[in-house]
Amino acid sequence: MIPTLLPTYSRAPMSFVKGEGAWLVEADGRRFLDLGAGIAVNALGHAHPALVAALTAQAGALWHTSNLYQIPKQQELADKLTTHSFADTVFFTNSGTEACELAVKMARKYWYDKGQPEKTDILTFSGSFHGRSSAGIAAAGSEKMTKGFGPLLPGFVHLEFGDHEALTAAITETTGAILIEPVQGEGGIRPVPDQCLKGLRDLCDEHGLLLIFDEVQCGVGRTGKLFAHEWAGIAPDIMMVAKGIGGGFPIGAVLATEEAASGMTLGTHGSTYGGNPLGCAVGCAVLDHVADPAFLDGVNRKAGLLRQKLEGLVASHPDIFESVRGSGLMLGVKCKASNADIVQAGYDQQVLTVPAADNVIRLLPPLTIDESEIAEAVERLDAAARQLSAA
Ligand SMILES: *Cc1c(COP(=O)(O)O)cnc(C)c1O
Repeated sequence: MIPTLLPTYSRAPMSFVKGEGAWLVEADGRRFLDLGAGIAVNALGHAHPALVAALTAQAGALWHTSNLYQIPKQQELADKLTTHSFADTVFFTNSGTEACELAVKMARKYWYDKGQPEKTDILTFSGSFHGRSSAGIAAAGSEKMTKGFGPLLPGFVHLEFGDHEALTAAITETTGAILIEPVQGEGGIRPVPDQCLKGLRDLCDEHGLLLIFDEVQCGVGRTGKLFAHEWAGIAPDIMMVAKGIGGGFPIGAVLATEEAASGMTLGTHGSTYGGNPLGCAVGCAVLDHVADPAFLDGVNRKAGLLRQKLEGLVASHPDIFESVRGSGLMLGVKCKASNADIVQAGYDQQVLTVPAADNVIRLLPPLTIDESEIAEAVERLDAAARQLSAA
């Protein structure tokens, strides 16, 4: 008999009833150090007082009115996001994959309105992840996500990650945009080197293409800049954001330049919930913290410490681990043993990590994790590795 919960997930047996900063607590009081942060979502950790205050204040006043009316918190969050980014305008969604839907629609409409409706193709890369909607799976194109779900949305050209020649050769008169994660998340924490992001910007400028960044996982302070592409000193035309911006409340956004968004005129897009007062109140509170340069300095300092400790961990368990990669507090450890077994051994040691493709375990702790918790986390991973070696 089918479970009452549609069985698309294989869930670990833990069941958490409470969160405190970087910790998750089970009903019996067992405490787990959370290096997954709800898959890069709980940017300020669990039950951050400022987020609890923002959400409860809004919840006591007004939950939802729809986009038929002004939503002051939505305006406030759009103003904050544009102040702190390349963007001139923002549309709010409820998730990352809905942001992908809009990014694709925006690119198509841009070219349609320019009188070049043939420029519908978007170049994407192997190992990418853009969510589970029809556009998201078609954009990523992996068999794992698309098999059985055809016919897929047309208009995506899939290229090998890192193959520069294939990329240049793939640009034709039907190409309209390039879509890429500055740091691949699900694909195994694979950063696009800064000079390659610059190269992509140059290529787009040269051919008049739109550059779309998916910063759903790598954005909002995760890499130690507010947005990951800032490290490369360039900017996209369109950017997808979600995960961290809500700190655990479901909200996403598409940020764009005035030019790139020019096709999205009155009535061309909408969402009942998107930009709802609860999500935007929390989003404002998240951004107030994360956009603070002192906060980002702290992320970079802690990232350096975690990375250094992970290098030590890898060196002392060459049978289990291979190497460390990533950016900021978006780190991946490439494994020799099975990543699933390491994640499981971590559960036994009460430390949570997240598996990714390419036999990697992902470490995406709350950006608020402190130095002693980082030390404790790596000790627990060390215990997990010893447990596996002994097995
Ligand atoms: C998680 C993720 C998405 C999808 O976000 P959802 O909120 O799950 O729809 C899209 N792109 C990237 C890079 C992601 O990590």
